[in-house]
Amino acid sequence: MDADAENGTSGGPEPWRGRVVRGDRGVVRVWTPGGEEVAVRTLAGADDGAAPCVGDWVLIEAVGTDLRVVAVEPRRSVLERAEPGGSSRRQVLAANIDAVAVVVGLDQMPSLEKVERLLVVAWSSGAPATVVLTKADLASDAADVAEEIATTLGVGVVVCSAESGDGVAEAAALAGGGTLALVGSSGAGKSSLVNALVGESRVATSAIRADGRGRHTTVRRELVALPGGGAVIDTPGLRGVGVTDSDGLVGAFADVEELTASCRFADCGHQVEPGCAVRAALDAGVLSLRRYESWRALQREAQWLERRADARLAAEQNRQLRRSTRAQRRMRRERGH
Ligand code: GDP
Ligand code: ZN
Repeated sequence: MDADAENGTSGGPEPWRGRVVRGDRGVVRVWTPGGEEVAVRTLAGADDGAAPCVGDWVLIEAVGTDLRVVAVEPRRSVLERAEPGGSSRRQVLAANIDAVAVVVGLDQMPSLEKVERLLVVAWSSGAPATVVLTKADLASDAADVAEEIATTLGVGVVVCSAESGDGVAEAAALAGGGTLALVGSSGAGKSSLVNALVGESRVATSAIRADGRGRHTTVRRELVALPGGGAVIDTPGLRGVGVTDSDGLVGAFADVEELTASCRFADCGHQVEPGCAVRAALDAGVLSLRRYESWRALQREAQWLERRADARLAAEQNRQLRRSTRAQRRMRRERGH
């Protein structure tokens, strides 16, 4: 830190606003209003939840020669997953998104359950989700697969190919001028789709190494501008995607969730209760057993995580209460009471 900054005499310009295009531990890359990209240090000691992530709007201040994030603006939507392996920890994948595309490669169709899981995570963000079936050039039955997913999962589907360019404009339209986040397994075709969406401009800077050997390194941005307006965020390919809360089920399982409104009992467990509209739909063959079981499994997972999160919050509130009680006692003692 330079002397000016230490003495607080740098008196730089007012903080300015930028958007995080890539987040790493301790430093983020931010788009400035002028369109350049700069490296900015994040707040020291910020916990994981408060650390800026890709898509965040941040306020930046110059401290000496350093740029620092001084505040992260409240997020209007957050795409996050629970870390796999029974952890209740959440990992923020993208912030301030307007739509989510669940990307599925037509070369290797994942199971419907996997797509449903991704859809729950997507809808939990607060932004609407669509399935994007890519690599259509590799499948002769792309239209049939799209039709099946649309009807069995009750979701909008776009078919495209990064290779041929077919359907890429429809995929771009999902951003609607805002920010589209892509989620999907590794190898699904997300980065190829980003390339197709933005042309060749995706790869950011190439830099000469400090030792002068001239090896070019590329900085991969996670958030890139779309030529027609808006932006796209590519999230890392995830091996495990845990659902975080039941909110996402309302969007991903609208058909089942709607049925629950007609159950006789408000606290119906949808198993053995009389007057259960979900069981009735199952018996009538309106709802498939596969979909019902998938819904139950994801619901249980979400509720378990919600309870764990509640317990953690309660423990934290307890700790804070004890701390402030101790502080009050100390103050009273010091005042001689
Ligand atoms: P990501 O891990 O989800 O980012 O997937 P990639 O974009 O890296 O794609 C995985 C593989 O699928 C790569 O070998 C791509 O070349 C290939 N691929 C991606 N999109 C298409 C496509 O539309 N058509 C074809 N034929 N191959 C594709
Ligand atoms: Zn019921």
